[in-house]
Amino acid sequence: MSPQPGFSTLAIHAGQAPDPLTGAVNVPIYATSTYVQEEIGKNKGYEYSRVSNPTRDALETSLAALEAGRSAHVFASGMAAIQAVLTRLSAGDHVVCGRNVYGGTPRLFNQVLSRFGLRFTYVDTRLPELIERAFEPATRLLFVETPTNPLMELCDLQACAAIAHRHGAELVVDNTFMSPYFQRPLALGADLVVHSTTKFLNGHSDGLGGVVVANTDQQADDLRFLQKSIGAILSPFECFLILRGVKTLAVRMRQHDASGRRIAAWLAPHPAVRAVYYPGLVQHPQHALAQRQMSGFGSMITIETGSLERANHLLRRVRVFCLAESLGGVESLISHPATMTHAALGPDGRAAIGLTDGMVRLSVGLEDPEDLEADLAQALA
Ligand SMILES: *Cc1c(COP(=O)(O)O)cnc(C)c1O
Repeated sequence: MSPQPGFSTLAIHAGQAPDPLTGAVNVPIYATSTYVQEEIGKNKGYEYSRVSNPTRDALETSLAALEAGRSAHVFASGMAAIQAVLTRLSAGDHVVCGRNVYGGTPRLFNQVLSRFGLRFTYVDTRLPELIERAFEPATRLLFVETPTNPLMELCDLQACAAIAHRHGAELVVDNTFMSPYFQRPLALGADLVVHSTTKFLNGHSDGLGGVVVANTDQQADDLRFLQKSIGAILSPFECFLILRGVKTLAVRMRQHDASGRRIAAWLAPHPAVRAVYYPGLVQHPQHALAQRQMSGFGSMITIETGSLERANHLLRRVRVFCLAESLGGVESLISHPATMTHAALGPDGRAAIGLTDGMVRLSVGLEDPEDLEADLAQALA
């Protein structure tokens, strides 16, 4: 490899040298729980698969390279990865979190981790002054998502990093929506990056997974210790699927972005659509920030249909888009945040962040964009 390999070269080769035993070009699925030892304390670097596994090592090396981090640590799901980050804290510690993050995140924070003495404050992370005001002496983390789900609100990652560091806290960025191909939080000052690999990184909707990318030796030691101690690690088979998915991440993201831009621009003037939330549109209030901190706009689009009835009409009539939770796969998905991903927030919680019953979220896949437009045209008619 050249001294500075490009993104796709890393995605295809980092951590994935041909198998020394057979020459296989793909990393094998090491389906083993344990490893034979020659004598006390003498092994080939592997002792037990909760601690380490060669297929998992390959994926962790690959993902660390793509986010340009110190190390990566994979978990059984995105939620398990987020839980690992929070498990580095102790009772009494405080977290400032975006008010419009993935619905499962506040559920974990409020209904599980708060019982162990962690405290959370939720803020509109579009406004740095609100973030700053939420900090307390015990604040250890600022946890953000950008763009957010499903309102597509952005936060300025450099400003967030400056605030967190001024207060001796770490900035954690859930980078699931953009993938490392379009957004590199560590380069903008973040301390940790998390992903649900279930989405764009794997890209084929055939396995769950999560990753935490660390930037220091201390974080790497902590996360390795938590993988071993809690055990919410990713199986070798899922590691293989994600390795396979990541090889095409760049070409997939380029097409997701091209189709996302095209469909957002087509939806914007449509008479049955009251509003389109997509950072690539010039009318998006944070379009300039999107251009500055992302190298593409992706394929997540939210539209306002006006009412629950209109939303349901659209969801019932689509033929190519599938009505389903999740996002980031090759197939186009359509979902209703109020009753699906954000049901747990309750009506008041949703109203507080501006999430309405008429909103519908699209994850634009890799089908021919003409077919996706035709599908939406007939369903919106
Ligand atoms: C899906 C998702 C998660 C949770 O990931 P799972 O793999 O479903 O546990 C976290 N954050 C974001 C932004 C997501 O889209």
